[in-house]
Amino acid sequence: MAIATINPTTGLIEHEFEPHDHAEVESRIAGAQTAFEALRDTTFEQRGAWVRNAAELLEDEAEQLARLITVEVGRPIPAARAEIYKSAKGLRFYADRAEAFLAPTQLADPSAVGARSAGTRYAPIGVVLAVMPWNYPFWQVLRFAGPALMAGNAALLKHASNVPQAALYLDTLFERAGFPAGSFRTLLIPASGVERVLRDPRVKAATLTGSEHAGRSLAAVAGSEIKHVVLELGGSDPFIVMASADIERAVDVAVTARNQNSGQSCIAAKRFVVHSDVYDEFTRLFTERVTGLRVGDPMDETTEVGPLATQAGRDELAEQVMDAVAKGATVLAGGSAPLLDGWFYLPTVLADLTSDMRLYGEEAFGPVATVYRVADRNEALRVANGTTFGLSSAVWSDDPDEQDWFIKRLDAGAVFINGMTASYPELPFGGVKDSGVGRELSAEGIREFCNLQTIWRG
Ligand code: NAP
Repeated sequence: MAIATINPTTGLIEHEFEPHDHAEVESRIAGAQTAFEALRDTTFEQRGAWVRNAAELLEDEAEQLARLITVEVGRPIPAARAEIYKSAKGLRFYADRAEAFLAPTQLADPSAVGARSAGTRYAPIGVVLAVMPWNYPFWQVLRFAGPALMAGNAALLKHASNVPQAALYLDTLFERAGFPAGSFRTLLIPASGVERVLRDPRVKAATLTGSEHAGRSLAAVAGSEIKHVVLELGGSDPFIVMASADIERAVDVAVTARNQNSGQSCIAAKRFVVHSDVYDEFTRLFTERVTGLRVGDPMDETTEVGPLATQAGRDELAEQVMDAVAKGATVLAGGSAPLLDGWFYLPTVLADLTSDMRLYGEEAFGPVATVYRVADRNEALRVANGTTFGLSSAVWSDDPDEQDWFIKRLDAGAVFINGMTASYPELPFGGVKDSGVGRELSAEGIREFCNLQTIWRG
């Protein structure tokens, strides 16, 4: 894939970039290693000040960055702006909390291990490679970069090929904020260049947010090198609506949960699993609201659903819908691409899904919702857990026993009760099954790329 900004609203190439050659990649890896050696002697206070400067730069430049997101991936501009402010907030969260998250510990009774003192400290591990997706081109990167840098690591970013301008902005952000040169650099390389970087002995670990295919491929290389990985992969989150739920609120949230970022979110609710007592009401209201979403130019402040980020993504989604319809699914809303330039797809609702349809088990990475009628909680759970994914889940129920029943049984990295799945710096984020391994955010996220060092003094 070319490394280029191709505007999804027009389909036109705006800027193409030459990938870095081997010499440039080598010099950036060497620079990151040198920066790491300097960073590990800096204090939390010093790094915190630099990370706060980076947050300030983002906020000062928010308008320009929001437009860049909208041009590169087609996100409606208000949501693009919100991504920048959320990223700045995430950076400040780690600037404030990293030291407490990584506090050393001491055994109360060191004589039990024959020592005068014994305990642990979280040490940085060195240069970490981050392979990142385009769907939230700033937030996905910065929720890794903030904790990685606060821990004292250096990092190299291989960003998705369709967001090179976001990647190049991030290339200089931390140096502008005061970090030693080389602490956080971008590698403009194709996916095929990742293996060579990960095998470099100076690169100690990797994180990848993206598709299952990319995750498997990176994990295989990391496994053969015995390097730690965090994988944040795809999802097909269930949104379970039981009979006791507040249906109007559930519908309100369901519309946003499926169509935010034009449906291109790993934690979007994708499958709506609805109890038969409320299925007709939920489906009618949901379909009405989805049909009313404003689709159009993402630079227009009132647009709710923009184009998909890539032509390949739009075509894949259209094929998944055609497959379902050919096998008997009912189209309640949308079901086609509108007559617009660019890579749009109408917000869609499909019912009567069966297990032979691709959409039953695959992730729909666009504004396509599938609804399932279920007779009871057991059937709801079977449908909810019935894919290879396990990222997040939502349960709508006003019955506390029922809520607990689902919490205990859902195979998912998170369960949101009567609310929408979202990522918060304060809470761990990550999946089970094919949705990935490891956690980002909160204390767990910063500890992923640390060496928990035991220190024994005799
Ligand atoms: P993608 O095609 O997997 O790309 C993600 C990143 O991986 C890009 O930088 C890509 O580079 C790189 N890549 C692709 N194949 C690779 C390989 N074989 N080895 C090493 N790197 C490789 O995914 P995407 O289309 O950008 O994003 C959509 C997917 O990401 C969805 O499945 C979504 O659910 C998932 N996602 C998950 C989370 C989460 O936190 N769990 C968050 C956001 C998105 P190129 O662009 O150069 O190909």
